[in-house]
Amino acid sequence: MRILLVEDESGLREPIAAYLERQGYQVAPAASLEEAREALIEAEPDLVLLDVMLPEGVDAGFEFATELRDAGFTGPILFITARDAVEDRVAGLDLGGDDYLTKPFSMEELAARVRALLRRGGAVRRSVFERGPLKVDFAARKVFWEGREVQLSGREFALLEMLTLQPDRVYGPEEILDRLFPGADSGSKIVHVYVHHLRSKLGDEVVATVPGAGYRLGLS
Ligand code: CA
Repeated sequence: MRILLVEDESGLREPIAAYLERQGYQVAPAASLEEAREALIEAEPDLVLLDVMLPEGVDAGFEFATELRDAGFTGPILFITARDAVEDRVAGLDLGGDDYLTKPFSMEELAARVRALLRRGGAVRRSVFERGPLKVDFAARKVFWEGREVQLSGREFALLEMLTLQPDRVYGPEEILDRLFPGADSGSKIVHVYVHHLRSKLGDEVVATVPGAGYRLGLS
């Protein structure tokens, strides 16, 4: 699941992004509307976390929500803002927002709202993936192998999610690095390490190595 996070305060943006990434989401951070518009093209988010007061204006978040809806974005929009006046709340929801979170909030509360919004549907491309012994419940973020639940870390889950999105496609290690571990050295062994984690927690056959090309879901 991809989240576009629009928040101009780096003191909030960075910890929120880090927290959500640890939960297994792919986060595209943006510090302004300008960056958000650019990120939108790349990120194709399932959910948008949107600060209201941005460098472009005190209501810039509301304006961007309208833009998103006009552009056909149907996924959930969760506003985050310091302002908690009732009229702001109503304005945000009128403009196509789905929920409203007032600063300060806990990361646990944020994550709970995100999960609830994604579960509500619309943005959920497919709520459950099943193939062979593997079952992934994306909305609940649970993974089962031969009927037993297996605990995965956020990044393990993100890798598994990526492989199941197009289960017959081969993903090159560089592409996996770029999407899941931005900033890691290219040629890093980190992708191999996470493939190994998935194989040892699930089964060896869950990920197939395609020599010279990369990895794909190993189940058919
Ligand atoms: Ca702000």
